[in-house]
Amino acid sequence: MPHCPVCQTQVEAYTETYTSPYNKQEYEKYECPHCEVHWWEPL
Ligand SMILES: [Zn+2]
Repeated sequence: MPHCPVCQTQVEAYTETYTSPYNKQEYEKYECPHCEVHWWEPL
């Protein structure tokens, strides 16, 4: 499971997915409940 890059809180589930039309890579959007940072995996 991913960790927040800011506070290292473990985040259990992503909130959105996005598939890049260029390389078909699927990204998952995570939101930290602790500090409200948003980021995508893989970065
Ligand atoms: Zn955080």
